[in-house]
Amino acid sequence: MTVFNQACRKSGTKLTHQRLEIFREVAQNGDHPDAETVFRGVRERMPTVSLDTVYRTLWWLKDLGLIKALGPLRARARFDANLGRHHHFVCAQCGLTRDFYSEKFNKLKLPQSIQSIGYAEMTQVEVKGICHQCAEKEKPGE
Ligand SMILES: [Zn+2]
Ligand SMILES: [Zn+2]
Repeated sequence: MTVFNQACRKSGTKLTHQRLEIFREVAQNGDHPDAETVFRGVRERMPTVSLDTVYRTLWWLKDLGLIKALGPLRARARFDANLGRHHHFVCAQCGLTRDFYSEKFNKLKLPQSIQSIGYAEMTQVEVKGICHQCAEKEKPGE
């Protein structure tokens, strides 16, 4: 939370209760929630909050560098409060996104062909698969 306070002060914006709650929701969820999931979680504690406020606050937090946005589509972005180096397991069925860590992946050697596309800043591996819960549901005869 101190990092949060400092970033707010630096950007000259006020740390409101609402903003703090929205940040907290992303940080505690740990499941890379999208804006609507954050909205549902925050609304339980603050019934007056609007989806629009949640949207704006999430992108404001992202601009401050306090969270990261995942996915190429802004409208369907998911948010990540884990700023440390990590990789993702994404369930192709339910969209569950979990963090995992790998020293090996951190040091991944990129193919030469990338240079013709652009300049690489960092590598984040995304493993696609089916999570245990979804696999469980699909088991035949149960
Ligand atoms: Zn799943
Ligand atoms: Zn993550």
